[in-house]
Parts: sequence; C-alpha cells; structure tokens
Amino acid sequence: MPHTPHPLPSRPPAPSPRRFRAVALLASALSVGLVAASAPPTPLGVGDRLFPYLGNPGYDVASYDLSFSYSGSNSEPLKAVTTIDARTTADLDRINLDFAHGKVDSVEVDGEPAAFATADEDLVVTPEDALAEGERVRIIVRHSSDPVYPEDRQGGWVRTADGLAMANQADVAHLVFPCNDHPSDKAWFTIRVTAPDGLTVVANGFPTDVDRAGAATTWTYRTGHPMATELAQVSIGRSTVLHRTGPHGLPVRDVVPTKHRAALEPWLKKTPDQITWMENKVGRYPFETYGLLMADATTGFELETQTLSLFEREMFTDSVHPEWYVESIMVHELAHQWFGNSVSPGTWSDLWINEGHATWYEALYAEETADKSLEARMKAAYGASDRWRAAAGPPAAPEPPEPGSRTGIFRSNVYDGAALVLYALRQEIGRPAFERLERAWVDRHRDGTGTTSDFVRLASEISRRDLGDFFQAWLYGEKTPPMPGHPDWKPTAADRVPAAGTGKAHGE
Ligand SMILES: [Zn+2]
Repeated sequence: MPHTPHPLPSRPPAPSPRRFRAVALLASALSVGLVAASAPPTPLGVGDRLFPYLGNPGYDVASYDLSFSYSGSNSEPLKAVTTIDARTTADLDRINLDFAHGKVDSVEVDGEPAAFATADEDLVVTPEDALAEGERVRIIVRHSSDPVYPEDRQGGWVRTADGLAMANQADVAHLVFPCNDHPSDKAWFTIRVTAPDGLTVVANGFPTDVDRAGAATTWTYRTGHPMATELAQVSIGRSTVLHRTGPHGLPVRDVVPTKHRAALEPWLKKTPDQITWMENKVGRYPFETYGLLMADATTGFELETQTLSLFEREMFTDSVHPEWYVESIMVHELAHQWFGNSVSPGTWSDLWINEGHATWYEALYAEETADKSLEARMKAAYGASDRWRAAAGPPAAPEPPEPGSRTGIFRSNVYDGAALVLYALRQEIGRPAFERLERAWVDRHRDGTGTTSDFVRLASEISRRDLGDFFQAWLYGEKTPPMPGHPDWKPTAADRVPAAGTGKAHGE
C-alpha cells in the first residue's frame, strides 16, 4: 500500500499484469514530481561525526551483488548493476543509498520500478509501496561506474597501468557503487566482472565461476565473511595469480603484473611466515584466504582491502626503503585483516583502533625480526604526540578531514600516536594482560564491529581494573599523559620529528 499520496484517483479494478505495470510506472513517474514539490529528497546519514552524510538509517544490508562490465579502457565508465538485499529496521517511504559520481539508469524495488532522485551524495529511492519495519527488500540499481574523477576528489577506482584496482577507504565506495557506505553496516559480497579476454579479474574472497563467452570472460567472486564497503577490492589487469599455502593449509593468493612476477617473488614468499607470526600474537587468521595485490599505480598508500591487500608494485621493485621497512608495511596491512577488517570500526572516530594496532604489529615485527627497538620508536612518538594532537586532535576524537586534503583522516595521531596509547596500556596493565586483551578483542568482535567504548570495557574486564580514567586521558586528552614506567619521556621540539613518523605515509 503506497503511503506516498499520488494523484491517480483510483486504480482500475482487477488489472491485468501488463496493465498494472503500466499504471505502476505512471504512478512512479508522477510521484517523483509530487515528492519534489512537497518534500524534497534529503541526504541522510548514520550520524558519523567525521562523515555526517555517510550511511543511511532505516535498513541493514545483508548482501551486495555487484556486476561490472569493463570495456578494456580504464578511462571509460563501466556498465554496472548493483543488487542490494536488505532488511528494514524502520517504516520507510524512501530508501536512501549513498551514491555519487555515476549515472543511474533505473531502480527497482522488489521487482517493481521505483522513482529515484539525487540529493547531494545520496540516491533517494521511492518505492511504489512503502516498506514496513522488518521487511526484506531487494533493490536493483542499473548505473554506470566511472573510474575518472575530478582533480579534487580521489578514488575508489584506481587506474593502473594495465586496468583498475579499488581503494574505497574511508568514504568513496559510493563513488563506485550504490551502497550503505559505512563500516557499521557490513554485508556479504558477490562481485562479478565481465572483461575482454587477456585480462584477469580478482576480487575479495574466492572465485565461484569463470564463464568464457565470445571474446569476453565473466569472473565471479564471493566473500566468505561479511565485509565493509570500504574494503571491497576489484582488480582488472594483465595479471598472474600466484598460489601458495599459509599456516594450517590457508590458501594464499597474490595478484601481480605478469611482467614483474619474478622480481616480486622474493617478497611474496614472505607472507606465509608473516601470517604465522601474526597468528602467534593474536590467534587464527580470520578469513578464507589472504594475499597481496601488486598494482602498477602510484597511490601514495597501501590498503588492507579484505583478503587481498593493495600495494604499489614500485614499493617492492624500485624501493628506496630498506627491506625490513617494506616487510613491516606488509605486516601492517596483514594485521588490519584482524584489526579493521574482521573487527570493523563502529564509527570513523574509532579509526585509531585499526591504525594503532596495525602500526603496533608493524613496529613489533620490526623489533622481533630486524632488531628495530619498539621502545625507541615509542619514545620518539611520545616526543611528537602533543604536536600530533594539536594538529589533528587526540586519537579517539580526530578532527574532520580538511576539504580537498588527500590525507583525509589518516594522520599521525591515529598511527604512531595511537600505537603509543597501546604502548602506554601495555606499560599500565602489563604484558600478559595486554596480550590476552588483544586475543579477546579480535575473538569477541570477529566478523562484527567494535567501538572505542567496547575496547575500554574489554580492557577493564581483562585487567580487572577500571581503566576509564586512563583511556579518557590517553584517547581524548589535548596533551599526552605521562608514560607509565618512563617518567623521563618528554615532548620534543618540532625539529626533532622522528624518522619513524614517516611510516604512516605508507600504511593505510
Ligand atoms: Zn593502516
């Protein structure tokens, strides 16, 4: 029953299906005008303090089915069909999706054409029949997905030398496909790409189908675990897929530009031991597969896309960095599979949990395998911490990104600045309790989300102490508190910024 009033006085009795459909179409067309006149489509959000318009209230996505058709040129829009299966969590006259930077051809809701309009970065869908709370709903959007962006806007498609890759973090998945673009709404993904023969497609999860037809092939992948939109990955290129085995038979799969395969192998073969190292720290690897996607592109960052981390190929083949450093960055993205991916941030202000832990294991790996002192790195971070807080806010209350900034919210306060909070915590509660906390965190929130208050609560529970004041000062203070066990550590002047602080340029 439509809740949106429309100007048709009544429907003909007992319409034939064909006739009914024509009426429904007409009603949809008319209701667009009516909606626009009475209540303009409005962009909505889930209230994220850093990205107020990301995500949408009123529904929970269960799964995405993304279909892309790639022409062979990475400067042309892809044809796309996005199918969203969701359940409503409120009565809805309209469904807001996040989507910008693509042309929408049509929208269907539960098999019927639906009206749609754009409001800022939302696609506002008005179904013929309003939806009641607790209903399953299927939304199909036929649209384009354009890999070319204006100067002042980055991603999610990354144009590589031989095709495309994806980098949606934090807020640009909805520049690729319509979605509920917030990590608090995780869902299963099926990703299907049709590409000309000669190209190889890989996406998150395992392949389920490869269909060759004519001069094109359709590749289908499915995730074995729920995933945030920011972690989707689709690689299209002249690639070779390399297979090896990780601990307890874990399939490890790397995607490399075919012509760089030999040069990359000495790096890629390190992954299984790195996974074992991480498993010894925090427990079983949380997904069905892992591997590196070596993109022929200069992004200025690496990204922990789920089960298939995105790296710049040149960091390995033309590196100006020492070997231990490159390895520690590999471990940074690997650690994110637990911290950030399996356990997603509940809001973007919880980013410090992702980046603090990834930086922590990056630094710990460098200490254990290359004799790079964690304490020295933390002492240097302590020296800079007040300045990082002044520049970008304290770790758990970061300031919003500056408009047009390519760094966005990914600043030192949530990298070494947040690893410093973990170091302070370990100093405060001792190593055994800290290590139990780390394992319990990824176990308890596996395939879900975790917030700062969840982390504080669990740390208090495991250490059997009320750590509320401790975390309040370390996570929200304008100034860095004294370091437990190191009363001599002091803020340092700006000209003594530590070299370790450059790590975050590489470790998103
Ligand atoms: Zn990171």
